[in-house]
Amino acid sequence: MLTRAQIEALLEENRNHHCEGLGPDHVCVRIEAIAELPSRFGQFQIAAFYNNRDNKEHVAIIHGDVLEAEDVPVRVHSECLTGDVIGSLRCDCRDQLESALRMIGQMERGILLYMRQEGRGIGLINKIRAYALQEQGMDTVEANLALGFRDDEREYSVAAHMLYSLHVKSIRLITNNPNKINDLTRYGIKVTGRIPHIMPPTEYNRFYLETKAVKSGHLLDSFGKAHLPEQADPPMVEGMDEEVLAVIRKYYK
Ligand SMILES: [Zn+2]
Ligand SMILES: [Zn+2]
Repeated sequence: MLTRAQIEALLEENRNHHCEGLGPDHVCVRIEAIAELPSRFGQFQIAAFYNNRDNKEHVAIIHGDVLEAEDVPVRVHSECLTGDVIGSLRCDCRDQLESALRMIGQMERGILLYMRQEGRGIGLINKIRAYALQEQGMDTVEANLALGFRDDEREYSVAAHMLYSLHVKSIRLITNNPNKINDLTRYGIKVTGRIPHIMPPTEYNRFYLETKAVKSGHLLDSFGKAHLPEQADPPMVEGMDEEVLAVIRKYYK
């Protein structure tokens, strides 16, 4: 855990932080507050960040001593109100979030960056709009396009700066998508490895296990409903067979 002295030093150095920023948008963030966050997934601390681009209040959920540390396991999670909070079964965001927190909580150290970018930047309204379009049984291409309109670049510049602010020296990214590593290295983050994010089977992520059919490139659940990818990271559930994995890999490419 960060000690009281480390927290004070971080807050002090962030108080007047201004830098050139990262990426074309010159994204600069600073830590505004840090507190203890005991949770059902383990002992964490939470750091809340200000950024100079929008009013999104991103947070880092920190476990163990990450300051100046090498090979820190890091998960980047995009906010999904319907999944994370309400427990929607239209996506598996909550499963991904919970299993990442549980994994990090059991490791020596680790960080989950919770990016407040609903639907990866398109916003809640557009996401619901995309759901509604899908329900009409038509225009799923348009629905996907709506949800596919992503602001990944900004997300990763913010995430990279958040890691700099926490003095993380190098990371191991928790992801099933090897391409994701480039997104952070582009901003100078040293990625020394990848930790596959394999979720335990639960009654809620079972729809992935039960996936047997793909229609026009859409991943279907056991009720025949299509799911839109929100975390842009192929979900891997323990016990999936190769056939399902192949379908998922193709869909998330
Ligand atoms: Zn900065
Ligand atoms: Zn979701």
